[in-house]
Amino acid sequence: MQTTIFDKIIAKEIPADIVYEDDKALAFKDISPQAPTHLLIIPKVSIATINDINSDNAELVGHLFVVAAKIAKEAGFADDGYRVVMNCNEDGGQTVYHIHLHLLAGKPLGWPPYQERLK
Ligand code: AMP
Repeated sequence: MQTTIFDKIIAKEIPADIVYEDDKALAFKDISPQAPTHLLIIPKVSIATINDINSDNAELVGHLFVVAAKIAKEAGFADDGYRVVMNCNEDGGQTVYHIHLHLLAGKPLGWPPYQERLK
């Protein structure tokens, strides 16, 4: 498994603006925010892509969503709404190969993400 920048954040070798941490997951502010609130929620063990999710790590992946909902409620935007996104591989726009939920909130978000006209 390749080391990514997120492993260094988990190990506290590089700084991050951490907003939540437990024994299994970490949430911190995205360095290049795409919404007024843009957090990344990551597992503390590396799973490279969505394609690597299986029955052995499904509970851990589910925990990331539990953390997302907890943060949304505590931060006060759960009722207004928010978006959780996980990109996969090149076409999905993934750049860091350690799965992460993008938690985006703080304004109405555009949809769809694919702008060209679908035939
Ligand atoms: P993705 O493109 O879905 O793989 O998302 C990776 C995200 O990680 C991007 O939104 C980046 O802005 C973010 N990112 C990369 N390096 C850091 C860092 N050191 N601290 C916080 N966010 C980062």
